[in-house]
Amino acid sequence: MRLSGWMCAAVAGALVAVSPTPANADAPIDPLVGAPGLGDPYYPLDGNGGYDVQHYDVAIDYDPPTHWLTGTTKISATATQGLARFNLDFAGPQLRMVTVNQLPAAFERNGEHELTVTPLLPLLPGLPFIVTVDYAGPAVNTEGEGWTFAPSGGAFVAGEPHSATSWYPLNDTPLDKATFALHATVPAEWEVVSNGVRTENVLRGDKRAVSWVSTKPVVGYLTTVAIDKFDYLEQRRANGTPLVSAFAPDAQEQRETEQRLPEILDFIESLYGPYPFDTAGGIYLDADIGFSLETQTRPLYAPMIDLQTVVHEIAHQWWGDWVSVRHWSDICLNECFASYTADYLWPERMAGRNVDDDYRETIRRSRDNAKFWSIPLENPGAGNEFTSVYYRGPLFLHALRKQIGDAVFFPAVRDFLAAHAYGNASMPEFRAFVQSRSPMNLVGFFDAWLNRTELPPEEYLFPGWSASPGL
Ligand SMILES: [Zn+2]
Repeated sequence: MRLSGWMCAAVAGALVAVSPTPANADAPIDPLVGAPGLGDPYYPLDGNGGYDVQHYDVAIDYDPPTHWLTGTTKISATATQGLARFNLDFAGPQLRMVTVNQLPAAFERNGEHELTVTPLLPLLPGLPFIVTVDYAGPAVNTEGEGWTFAPSGGAFVAGEPHSATSWYPLNDTPLDKATFALHATVPAEWEVVSNGVRTENVLRGDKRAVSWVSTKPVVGYLTTVAIDKFDYLEQRRANGTPLVSAFAPDAQEQRETEQRLPEILDFIESLYGPYPFDTAGGIYLDADIGFSLETQTRPLYAPMIDLQTVVHEIAHQWWGDWVSVRHWSDICLNECFASYTADYLWPERMAGRNVDDDYRETIRRSRDNAKFWSIPLENPGAGNEFTSVYYRGPLFLHALRKQIGDAVFFPAVRDFLAAHAYGNASMPEFRAFVQSRSPMNLVGFFDAWLNRTELPPEEYLFPGWSASPGL
């Protein structure tokens, strides 16, 4: 995610404090009931216990003039314990029917997004099962936390960490990635864009039927659907990877930026290893939701973004999508790296910029600004995930690179990603991995940069610098 105009917010100290979500202390007592949440420190009710999803098959019909959404979601999962009852996460339209293994199941909705399902027959541990959920009703405009209505009359889904529950039921946690297929029908004059490869786009009477398939596992908030009168840009990487990008009616001027996508993919691949997906692209919106988002293979872009935003969201395909956070307190793994790639590595390697000077200048300007250092990078607190990671994050990684040297830094981050491919990773794992590659004791360095709420001591601010003129 990249906020539009985040620097102004950070400097002005206009960050909005959000109360942390209260912890859910009620662990299930019945051994045949799946937990309603996975205990994320910030969002304890996100995700559910007792099963592991392999695949989502989401079929929707959307009517832009009325916002009417009809859906059938088929979830293929495996029980990891005996289940007389389990939960899904869903905050979308009214439910019509739920079946488990084609038998009608009882269901109940509670809280913000819990959907409790009681199958007719209990599920056995280790066995696969299929849940089908039918629903229909108007999509609700949430402006950046699910469905958002576009100026043209179209609509799209965007939001981190929550948005998927607005359009399909799921295990809404980064810890349960699954492959994903979308089959959408809309009135014939509309287009549908989503993640992955488009496998169908046909007119049937007055309807258009479109399918998109993600063959690599994806986290809920990284899925999207966008319905608009899109124009397309189709490109190809030198290795043949197809690139499909879409532009909303008032976003056509962004085509030039998106034409640099092959170059951006080549650059980031040179840093972090082969691009992990079988297609790429972008969805250029003309509705200002205040942020761009790294939806898998095809990021969503706010209007009037710059090249750096594209580099940021494409870097997320490695940091966030290929390797995802274990908990939301690990957000620096996503945002520190995406920001460092776009704000330091691209200008340095592609434009010959002296980013050491940029680093020194940023430290000089912020060293006496207590607010700048007040939110730690590791475990910033619920509601603070998208704050210091953008302005402290790149400084941390530049200092780490100076501390351990390029010859250790770049192979270490590349190997760390590969070790967690298509899975999850945490900040403590990152610290331990980098430490395992360096003969230096990095405990003090990591503590100063990641855990403290003040300017790091001079030895960690300018490690390996022979001189720090003007400071
Ligand atoms: Zn980001």
